[in-house]
Amino acid sequence: MSTESTKAQGAPAERRTFAIISHPDAGKTTLTEKLLLFGGAIREAGAVKGKKARRHATSDWMEIEKQRGISVTSTVLQFSYRNRRINILDTPGHEDFSEDTYRTLTAADSAMMLIDAAKGVEPQTIKLFEVCRMRGIPIFTFINKLDRQGKDPLALLEELEEVLGIRSCPMNWPIGMGQEFQGIYNRPDNRFERFTDRGTETEQIQVDDIEDEALREALGPALHEQLKEEVMLLDIAGDPFDAELVQRGKLTPVFFGSAIANFGVETFLNQFIDLAPPPGPRPTDDGRVVTTDAPFSGFVFKIQANMNPAHRDRVAFIRVCSGRFERGMTVNHVRTGKKVNLAQPQQFFGQGREIIDEAYPGDILGIFDPGLFRIGDTLCEADKFQFEKLPQFSPEHFARVYVKNTLKYKQFHKGMEQLSEEGAIQVFRQANRTEDMVLGAVGQLQFEVFQHRMKAEYGAEVELHNLPYSFARWLVSPVPIEQLNYDRQAIIVVKDHDDRFVMLFPNEFTIRLVLDKNPGVELHPTSYGV
Ligand code: GDP
Repeated sequence: MSTESTKAQGAPAERRTFAIISHPDAGKTTLTEKLLLFGGAIREAGAVKGKKARRHATSDWMEIEKQRGISVTSTVLQFSYRNRRINILDTPGHEDFSEDTYRTLTAADSAMMLIDAAKGVEPQTIKLFEVCRMRGIPIFTFINKLDRQGKDPLALLEELEEVLGIRSCPMNWPIGMGQEFQGIYNRPDNRFERFTDRGTETEQIQVDDIEDEALREALGPALHEQLKEEVMLLDIAGDPFDAELVQRGKLTPVFFGSAIANFGVETFLNQFIDLAPPPGPRPTDDGRVVTTDAPFSGFVFKIQANMNPAHRDRVAFIRVCSGRFERGMTVNHVRTGKKVNLAQPQQFFGQGREIIDEAYPGDILGIFDPGLFRIGDTLCEADKFQFEKLPQFSPEHFARVYVKNTLKYKQFHKGMEQLSEEGAIQVFRQANRTEDMVLGAVGQLQFEVFQHRMKAEYGAEVELHNLPYSFARWLVSPVPIEQLNYDRQAIIVVKDHDDRFVMLFPNEFTIRLVLDKNPGVELHPTSYGV
């Protein structure tokens, strides 16, 4: 490799690090496979795991993963495309997804939002979208499965606006749908792509504008009229493309296509590459900003135990934010003040991994973790700053936890402490019964994994009793908690690890009631801003 291309490979401007957000079954696995193929992927498309396995109550959680065919953990897929290094942060697509999925988004610079044309905006898409919005990252929408009959495209755009509250700008427009699907008309370059299910060998017709005779011939008069009408409507009533609004996550460019037929995917990818932001500066917790050209720095956004069932190991996933990472370099572990040597950096592809020698802003490293790292830890080469704290996510499942054998109390506490630090689970104590511990999780699967790891790694068998709450709200109250007016049968008050009060509610109605009855009270879905 020449020095110049080495440099280009390392330049942050060449990198695109993103996650794909979608509801299960929208076609994320299929889309990811096609993206990898365009990159002449490092691994066969089969690296993207299949799913569709049934639920299994099994004790081994690597087994859980295997048998359900889902990826419990997020991995990263890296490939080159058009002189760019693409990092796709893979997130679990399962309904039992957990905080890992959310946290992975903190390592992404942008997101692809995949929507099933027949289903529209679905619940998990909404949740993931909220995290992207919180971070203000750009979101690029791909409306999938146009080869099947779906909702009206205009209705889908309306749904984006009404359900997600984001304005949209269609970059292309579908002509027909399902059996009648003819293709897409690309607005920025007046190009018609005819739908075939032969993937990339689509017929492309370049026209001067939408009135062009060639387009009329290609589509026939009736469809041409319809396309003209719809595009005119978009021109008049729709949002114009505005790169700045896209960058701020206020406007989403929308693309149509069919992942399975590999139709519209290349057009989507090309535009995405041009419009999605490269890695940029990151704020520190004392209000400074670290630019990508600073000496090496990064943060841990995920810790994964038991990556390799043969020997129990933990891997800390680090997003590189600045500088050049080199294998074997010694860096400051800011939280503990220690120096650590990063000797065995790895990159992960599906199930495989390989040792790497260098990495640049936007890249993800997996570092063997002897138990040193915590979620949110900052590593820096020269300085000693901490990146902004990673957000916590509002748990939706709660269970009381008991150790089965009280002689194992010490192990139990150690496990609870470490797993909560690792971010595997959120731990609360009941405010007036400090020995009673309540676990909170974003997804039910986290409980299963927790239970298994407590036994396997700490030797403490635990029993979980599910609690009938679905919402946690961090409390800011002008009056002492005893004076709050709330239904003590339906709601409990717990404390988080920083002794902040958190109310657990069975439903949204009870949340509203507390707000109505207690003027001045604030209820926050996370500890953010409390
Ligand atoms: P994931 O759960 O989001 O990863 O979804 P998959 O990629 O596994 O796709 C779910 C199902 O939708 C599978 O049966 C796919 O074959 C199918 N699918 C994916 N993309 C398309 C598409 O463009 N058109 C049609 N008709 N089916 C698709």
